[in-house]
Amino acid sequence: MKNLNSNWVTEVFKDTALSFKIKEKLYSKKSKFQHIEIYETEKHGNLMSLDGCYMVTEKEEFVYHEMLVHIPLFSHPNPQNILVIGGGDGGTVREILKHQCVKSIDFVEIDEDVYKLSKIYFKNLTRGLANDKRVNFLFGDGIKFVKEKKNFYDVILVDSTDPSDISGGLFSTDFFKDVYKALKKDGIMVMQSESPFYDGEIISNVQQRLKKIFNKTYLYLAFIPIYPSGCWSFSCGSKKYSINKIRNKKSVIKGLKYYTHNLHKSILSLPQFVMDLMK
Ligand code: SAM
Repeated sequence: MKNLNSNWVTEVFKDTALSFKIKEKLYSKKSKFQHIEIYETEKHGNLMSLDGCYMVTEKEEFVYHEMLVHIPLFSHPNPQNILVIGGGDGGTVREILKHQCVKSIDFVEIDEDVYKLSKIYFKNLTRGLANDKRVNFLFGDGIKFVKEKKNFYDVILVDSTDPSDISGGLFSTDFFKDVYKALKKDGIMVMQSESPFYDGEIISNVQQRLKKIFNKTYLYLAFIPIYPSGCWSFSCGSKKYSINKIRNKKSVIKGLKYYTHNLHKSILSLPQFVMDLMK
């Protein structure tokens, strides 16, 4: 075993830890909302952490962003109006823009500093966003924002941090009720919902809350090496469509690295211990 020195950065999560070898610290400052740190790593490109939790690395970010976005946007037959809550690094909006049928994206990130810094240090995630007229930058609290919207969105994506002072409300029944109202009658919502290995209680709570509100609820997984355990979940509430069928024939997207239509069709094949969290 190794004792790590100052050339490494470590996220401690409960009783585990994951370290990356770094070249240098690029940024470290408290914003109005959270402590933002950015490092250049040896082999994973730039890395961002918020309040000590890894958010993105340039090398691995495609998994999270492709799986959060393309499962709902290919399940919906014609997704045009999209809401993104959180996602300040830009990766989620970048993936949505690949769908030719999308007409507008309301991008509601509470911490403008996360986006401003991502424009400097994560150019592959933010490139093209500011010049695309489909993107409405609406910096503010997504919990408040969604309350004002009724019957408007085809898809709502919640790309948040772990439950905290600012994001805890994004996991609540009241928020899910507001999301339901903001969606059209065949709308779909997907949110990141933590690790089945370490956060089973959060997943169970989210699933129970969604079940009380949405006609159909789902859970699916992706392998994300930088998050605790590497096994990550997404929870979905849908008014009409199942989440394992390709209905959107308008979008033609080349060059994805994780998402495939075959993977999509098998997305509901889950390990038993994960299905148990949905009961
Ligand atoms: N991929 C990441 C993960 O799961 O670790 C999430 C990345 S993204 C940077 C998370 C963003 O959610 C942060 O920038 C944070 O500021 C934003 N956020 C947290 N609570 C929010 C809220 N109530 N409204 C809008 N954005 C919020």
